[in-house]
Amino acid sequence: MARAVLHGIPVSSGIAIGKAFFINRRPRSRRHDLVPLDQVEAEAARLEAAVEAVAAEFVEARAAMPEVLQGQLDILDSHLLMCRDPKLRNETLRRIREGRMNAEWALEESLEQIALAFARLNVPYIRDRIEDVRVVAGRIGRHLSGPPDKSRLESGRGVLLAHDLTPADALGLSLDRISAFATEMGGKTTHTGILARNLRIPAVVGVGGLEEEAVEGDLLIVDGLSGRILVSPSEAELEEYIGRQRRFADFQKSTADNASLPAETEDGLRVSVLANIEGVDEVKSMQDLGGEGVGLVRTEFYYITRSEMPREDDLFEEYARMVQAAAPYRVTFRTLDVGADKIFSERVRLEEPNPALGLRAIRYCLRHQDVFRRQLRAILRAGALGKAAIMFPLISGVSELRQARSVLNEARQELDASGIPFDPDIPVGIMIELPAAVLTADALAKEVDFFSIGTNDLIQYSLGVDRGNRHVSYLHQPLHPAVVRAVKHVVDMAHKAGIKVAVCGEMAGDPYCLPILLGMPVDELSVAPANMPGIKHLVRRSNAEECRELLRQALAAPTVHSINNAVRHAVYNRFPEETAFFASQLDGDR
Ligand code: PEP
Ligand code: MG
Repeated sequence: MARAVLHGIPVSSGIAIGKAFFINRRPRSRRHDLVPLDQVEAEAARLEAAVEAVAAEFVEARAAMPEVLQGQLDILDSHLLMCRDPKLRNETLRRIREGRMNAEWALEESLEQIALAFARLNVPYIRDRIEDVRVVAGRIGRHLSGPPDKSRLESGRGVLLAHDLTPADALGLSLDRISAFATEMGGKTTHTGILARNLRIPAVVGVGGLEEEAVEGDLLIVDGLSGRILVSPSEAELEEYIGRQRRFADFQKSTADNASLPAETEDGLRVSVLANIEGVDEVKSMQDLGGEGVGLVRTEFYYITRSEMPREDDLFEEYARMVQAAAPYRVTFRTLDVGADKIFSERVRLEEPNPALGLRAIRYCLRHQDVFRRQLRAILRAGALGKAAIMFPLISGVSELRQARSVLNEARQELDASGIPFDPDIPVGIMIELPAAVLTADALAKEVDFFSIGTNDLIQYSLGVDRGNRHVSYLHQPLHPAVVRAVKHVVDMAHKAGIKVAVCGEMAGDPYCLPILLGMPVDELSVAPANMPGIKHLVRRSNAEECRELLRQALAAPTVHSINNAVRHAVYNRFPEETAFFASQLDGDR
């Protein structure tokens, strides 16, 4: 028997077996000591050494950055610059020398002072750097309080354990040596999962007791399918999981071999399977893994991985590369969705008491129309080189949609007046993520070319469950009657108006939700590229009539529990083995 079996939320599929190494442990309360006068210089030297070590870590991480994340090197460069910036270092040294504070304390104080000064400047891009200073200071602080994290990864690959993992933290690591992630914090749709899926490694988040139960160097099994983590497994468990690992690899290979076959049920219902991506690098995976286009570009990643707001030409270049690489398929650009759980948000969060209900997504863009227009112009221009579509996130109703469209019209007119080529007929759609959009779907459908249902947020806002909070993640239930009815209503309203409807939240890649979505039926499923072959395989093994009957039952069912049971039964009968190879959100019917 394993020494401990921990449970979390699986966010990236696969099974990894490896040694544990920690970064970003839960912040310990730091020592606040006065340093004796004769030790002040030694304390200053301790700080200098930590700063140098962190800078060296960034340089090394840069060199080791795997190709899949090459597009995100800029953030490392800005962290390196910040690490070498004299401000943080000199301020901290001054406090050590003049205030006789120990290095940890002095660093904390300097950070707070710099953060406050930045915040007061009230210049958005300077304010936004606060988070970067925190990341760098956090790293220096950790170096001061213990041996560097990296030394533990000296040989082979390991399982990275952390209290929390921001993309910036992950970028500072040798990602090619990480075989899996597990974090104590986080929920189903946090971006740790997206990062792991990009890297095609298993990940489990929201793991209670991780930092207490697992010890540096422990052998771990991370099951990114069930969300289980076995600490110091027995021989028998190891053997069992090695077998599972092999079966999973076989399944992946067989579905990848058939990835180019269409997603059509045995009785002839055809759906399109598209990719959710963050950057141009993933377009190739979309093509290789049988994708029929890009259903969602999370465009905010390009912004948050840069230290300065991108210029229109930078955006245009990036988007043009995507559109050209995806040909003959379409690329659907979701306009900037920052705020709330998006990384940018941590910068916004400084000012917002309730960011999920705050200035995020389309609200941010309508407030900062210069930023919005610049992005719209770039998308419109890229549209002239292939097939592009625009999608507005978090739309709450027709008025907001019209405001967004009027900025789009201005962008069009500007390009027209300047004689710059663009796609005048670019399709315009919206994400359905708010109950308000569900209830006004009939009116919204008359004013757009397509809908895409963002179930991650739709569940969050319909059920009042913070998508990133593990304490309530058991309530994040994709097959709650309210969610099933909401999605069905949106599909009906779209079809009545003669427009297509996609699902691009995690539900689209969940084998247990698939029969419900096919029963409606949605027109497109947009999932992580790595999930596309598996989902296409499941569609081919499905029967649309059976799905319609299951949906009828679900629409009449009073509880999530009864829907989950009915779906589990149906799925078990249809594809009993395959479900073991997918992560599912159906853990919330307790
Ligand atoms: C969603 O909300 O379902 C979605 C696809 O968008 P994101 O996860 O980026 O908020
Ligand atoms: Mg969303």
